[in-house]
Amino acid sequence: MGKFAEKACIITGGASGIGEATSVLFAREGCSVIIADIDMENGKRVSDSIAHKGGVSRFIKHDVTSEDSWRALIAEVEKEYGRLDVLVNNAGIGFAGTITEMSYAEWQTVMRINLDSVFLGLKYSLEMMRKAGRGGAIINVSSVAGIVAAPGAAAYCASKAGIRLLTKSAALESAAAGDGIRINSVHPAAVDTPIWKKSNWWNEFSRAHGGDEKAMEIMAKNSPLKRMAKPEEIAAGILYLAADESGYVTGAELVIDGGFSIQ
Ligand code: NAD
Repeated sequence: MGKFAEKACIITGGASGIGEATSVLFAREGCSVIIADIDMENGKRVSDSIAHKGGVSRFIKHDVTSEDSWRALIAEVEKEYGRLDVLVNNAGIGFAGTITEMSYAEWQTVMRINLDSVFLGLKYSLEMMRKAGRGGAIINVSSVAGIVAAPGAAAYCASKAGIRLLTKSAALESAAAGDGIRINSVHPAAVDTPIWKKSNWWNEFSRAHGGDEKAMEIMAKNSPLKRMAKPEEIAAGILYLAADESGYVTGAELVIDGGFSIQ
């Protein structure tokens, strides 16, 4: 039995990348993992592979931008598991474009998927966790882009910076309520996941640098450690913030960036 025996957790965006690595790690620690994602094919793939290795996991189709979807997800988890101990607000998208280039609709899409989703996740999971009275942990996946700015990334940076202070405000609200729920954020720099190739700027960047492999090498060279992070290295930080060992940690920002933000 691992750290999370008897616990239930929701991981948004659990079908890929950091969310997938976190789902696998939490399941290995004995947690019942609910993978909540819009990507049904990969969500089921991750959930089946966890079950195949003896873990407990279930995929639930979920759109983090929809309040109805959050209500339905929480109701389903309450019905099936009767508890929610951990929420990882991880789903997100990459986006690049200067303020004058991007449309208002694009700005709103980034905000809805990356930031509004975290508000909704906090709102509905806090309600359920408080009702149960067992405390809990919520981890919001932000980015170093929520701490240091980058030209051409205003929407992404603003969404991730929003998560940073939303997390701290929520942490203080929970502390004041005495509900035993800790809320923290995680700030990775470049992680080797599918997010890059799905981003709106990737094709042009890749072409300009002689293909995907070379473009990924450039990303790696930007890091003081000269490599991208592995998703498992971010999952390990999320696990720490979800576990009892971090019982005195709330409102903190865990920077896992290979030194990127201190250059
Ligand atoms: P990824 O593309 O591999 O995974 C993101 C997952 O989110 C996908 O499974 C996708 O289907 C899901 N998703 C997207 N929109 C959704 C929606 N509306 N509802 C439900 N699920 C949705 O990306 P990743 O790199 O694993 O990123 C995970 C998080 O980490 C994101 O919030 C991202 O901004 C953040 N992050 C990533 C990096 C990086 O370099 N990869 C760096 C810093 C922060």
